[in-house]
Amino acid sequence: MNVRFIVDSMLGSLARKLRIFGFDVIYNANYNDEHLLKRAENDKRMILTSDKGLFQIALKRGLDALLLTDNNDEDRMVSVMLKLGLENCYLTPSRCPICNGFLIKVSRDEISKDLPKNITLRYSEFYKCESCEKLYWEGSHWRKLKIFSEHVEQKLRAIKNKNPE
Ligand SMILES: [Zn+2]
Repeated sequence: MNVRFIVDSMLGSLARKLRIFGFDVIYNANYNDEHLLKRAENDKRMILTSDKGLFQIALKRGLDALLLTDNNDEDRMVSVMLKLGLENCYLTPSRCPICNGFLIKVSRDEISKDLPKNITLRYSEFYKCESCEKLYWEGSHWRKLKIFSEHVEQKLRAIKNKNPE
């Protein structure tokens, strides 16, 4: 995915979801507006914000920005996918939701001493973050995210059907 984002401090849960769906996302709750704008400019990142004032400053400076006025992540994700012209977001275990580091596939043997047995026996795919070393597996959280992505897809389809090209 070529597009890279920087997300304002109000949108932390969206930032984590975008990473789970494979996007490169910077999110730092300690950044003030000026930090965020500078970083966006230097890294050529699209700004995702729910702050109208920040959005307008970004546009004035010629930065790529998207104002998200929805109050839930499903609709926010729909807005982002529409902006990118994508039909949906897809689960790709490629980025750590906590730190944006890359996930690498690890074998059951490698992690068997780090996770409880009921998890290592129940699941077959495991991932480790290269940066913070957190472990992930396709558990119940994964199923919730699949449902999330299905809802996003349904909403995108409904919008497309209302506005056929
Ligand atoms: Zn990490």
